[in-house]
Amino acid sequence: MTSTKIQTCVTGFPSIGENRELKWALEKYWSGQIPFEELESTAAALRKAAWLEQKSAGIDYISCCDSSLYDRMLDTAVIFGAVPERFASIEDPAELYFAMARGNSSGPAMEMTKWFNTNYHYIMPELKQNQAYECNSSLPVSRYREAISHGIVPRVNIIGPVTFLTLSRRTDGGRAIDLLPVFIPLYKKLLEDIASAANGRVLVQIEEPVAVSDTHSPTPDVFRQICDALAEVKGVDIIFSTYFDHATEAVKALRDVPLYGIALDFVYGPENLEALEYLNGKKLFAGVVNGRNIWKNNYSRTLALYETISRKVAPENIVLSTSCSLQHVPYSLRSEDKLDQQVRERLSFAVEKLHELADLSSIISGNVAAGSNGPLADNRAVFQSRSALFEMSADNEAARRSREGSRMSRKTAQKALNLPLLPSTTIGSFPQTPALRALRRDYKKGVIRSEEYDLGIKNYIHECIVFQEEAGLDVLVHGEPERNDMVEYFGEQLEGFAFTSNGWVQSYGSRCVKPPVIYGSAARVRPMTVDIIKYAQSLTSKPVKGMLTGPVTILNWSFARDDVPREKICQSIAAAISEEIDDLQRAGIRIIQVDEAAFKEGYPLRRSKREDYEKWAVECFRDAVSTARPETQVHTHMCYSDFSDIFDAIEALDADVISIETSRSGNDLLRIFEHRGYSGDIGPGVYDIHSPRVPSQAELEDEINSRLAVVPAESLWVNPDCGLKTRKWEEVKPAIRNMAAAAVNARKGVVHRG
Ligand code: GLN
Ligand code: ZN
Repeated sequence: MTSTKIQTCVTGFPSIGENRELKWALEKYWSGQIPFEELESTAAALRKAAWLEQKSAGIDYISCCDSSLYDRMLDTAVIFGAVPERFASIEDPAELYFAMARGNSSGPAMEMTKWFNTNYHYIMPELKQNQAYECNSSLPVSRYREAISHGIVPRVNIIGPVTFLTLSRRTDGGRAIDLLPVFIPLYKKLLEDIASAANGRVLVQIEEPVAVSDTHSPTPDVFRQICDALAEVKGVDIIFSTYFDHATEAVKALRDVPLYGIALDFVYGPENLEALEYLNGKKLFAGVVNGRNIWKNNYSRTLALYETISRKVAPENIVLSTSCSLQHVPYSLRSEDKLDQQVRERLSFAVEKLHELADLSSIISGNVAAGSNGPLADNRAVFQSRSALFEMSADNEAARRSREGSRMSRKTAQKALNLPLLPSTTIGSFPQTPALRALRRDYKKGVIRSEEYDLGIKNYIHECIVFQEEAGLDVLVHGEPERNDMVEYFGEQLEGFAFTSNGWVQSYGSRCVKPPVIYGSAARVRPMTVDIIKYAQSLTSKPVKGMLTGPVTILNWSFARDDVPREKICQSIAAAISEEIDDLQRAGIRIIQVDEAAFKEGYPLRRSKREDYEKWAVECFRDAVSTARPETQVHTHMCYSDFSDIFDAIEALDADVISIETSRSGNDLLRIFEHRGYSGDIGPGVYDIHSPRVPSQAELEDEINSRLAVVPAESLWVNPDCGLKTRKWEEVKPAIRNMAAAAVNARKGVVHRG
């Protein structure tokens, strides 16, 4: 197709290792089993493996500083000396680093939050005006040298100043971005140090993903300002790197800035095609291989996209790239021999994506035959093979169903539940003990028989119910002992889902998740939770909540196939959940909670796309609960989120009760519910479940009373922030007893005041 060899680039590679080696080393180091040097040598071996993997695949642009011992935002904070005061006296660098990440006796860890709309969590830097920031370049410089020692001339990845500041928080009030004048000289110094270590020219990838988000992005002109400044540094070639959506405004603003290149994501931001006319001679790093999903690249489609791009950009200026860092996908398919072959052949993890880039480059460069064999033909064959496995069911009419009865009439019908004022409950899970994990593991491995497993689970449920009755809670739960994970548990029972053996993706630090793969329509084969909830309900006369994961969360926490609209897959999951709800209520369950922990994180970064997502996500939730009769009370739960910009959607979900996380922010998150007049009931968490601390009854009463200042008593529920599965019974028992007693007292207060 062209005579130029088209070059290839990888935005970044997973840190965690093919078999989560980094996780194991971190955990050993934290528990004192290995010294820091051993952790560092494991990490160095992983970096080397990642570099050689890319080199042997023939990738032209390979990065250093794309990986981290814990988190790259944290690394950036350390480079600039942005150390919170509570840790300032720690001298040992390793101790300081992990204290910032995880907390220690000097104080709590720095806050963690989601990286854009991914399921990766970064450490949020804490900044303030009057702090002496510095520039300590030893990390990037040593990584650069390390790559050179392995025969690779790397590009140095740096999180750009606008993204770094926008995602930080100011502890002294004010906006972090206002510190830009302080940080620009520090960034310049950083680039100078890297250039002098490189002894000549060096490529630096300045990552500014915030440029694609019009919800928290500053004006595009800021990018011009910083790039103008950074481009002055001698010996450095800058690639302005964006991902997760289009960055048209920024590209336009950078038109006249002398940059080496701009990286644009064409998978999640096809609108980037419109940005091409502003490139003005810069190289284009064209993100055409999806860095966030695990499906094989469809070469024919990518070649067509390349054709379109090459009409505007000269081939020698086009570099084929991943759409973002590959940290969001598992390492390699190499050990997935248990997967259904038909599913496996459609997948591509990080290592396989390297070969996709190499294939695409060879095909475009005309280095491989276009005939009936070769990578293009092989790839076409996969996409043309018709397999019943991948059939999607016909358009799901059911997806536009919603519940019978208005909210008011349902509230009347639900009076039959006989709940007191300020009813107390929990979010679903109780502590996952080592014994419980062992029970599930042994059962999965076939070490114990199902009778023994069932007995273990029933005993746990029995203890949970006894405890909750004793504590005086009003609405009980079964405790979720049978669930490893709130998505996996349902995925494993639904058709259309597959599970990898080693498809781990870093969630934060040493924590990894193994998202299910959704390859077809979800379908329920048989009831998934009915027996267990029925059993729990049989032990008590108080209502036990049925506990389900909502369709939007199941979708957002899975790798769903990318060749059908997400909403279609979501509709099929919703239909399955709606059948489960119907079975639960037929079995006598009167309250059902449908968790939507990942509802908010699924929002696209561009306003123009948010409406569409919101519309189908709300419809799918409504469809999922559409079978609930008016007298069946539907609850939903969402984890820590800012609800102010999605209030209408929350209202439209039309759940009878929503529980949310509020304990860390007092009434701040709740204001919007007051302000806009939420019409349902709310359970704003009264204590933080992320901490082992046991709140006293008096303290919890204060919390409840402060919620009463914002939410009318008839609509207020009392519950913790989230599920209790990560806590210990020693913490949970007194905390829940105190909470239930506090609810009783607060109730008396309300009645007394009339
Ligand atoms: N029901 C789940 C639990 O209690 C909800 C967890 C979540 O929303 N993250 O664990
Ligand atoms: Zn939660």
